[in-house]
Amino acid sequence: MNTNETINKENSQVCPVCKVSINKLGQVQFSSGQMGSRARLYARVCQYVDNRDCINSDPELIGEIKASDRYSTGDNLKNTLDNTFK
Ligand SMILES: [Zn+2]
Repeated sequence: MNTNETINKENSQVCPVCKVSINKLGQVQFSSGQMGSRARLYARVCQYVDNRDCINSDPELIGEIKASDRYSTGDNLKNTLDNTFK
């Protein structure tokens, strides 16, 4: 829809497991539309899939996972999983 989106797509890797794209800057495009960090993606999705094809499984790239990267409610987790695994 805008210039940023085009740039992100051209420079992004899509995780075959999680189906989310990670751009060259390490920003994660979630299916819900907001941008996040690799740490957030890992805390919310990748740690549960436990699949070595996941491109977001390198601790050096993921970095520190903050409490705010995790879900505070089960509803949020359910919504994102529903969106991610469509
Ligand atoms: Zn992944």
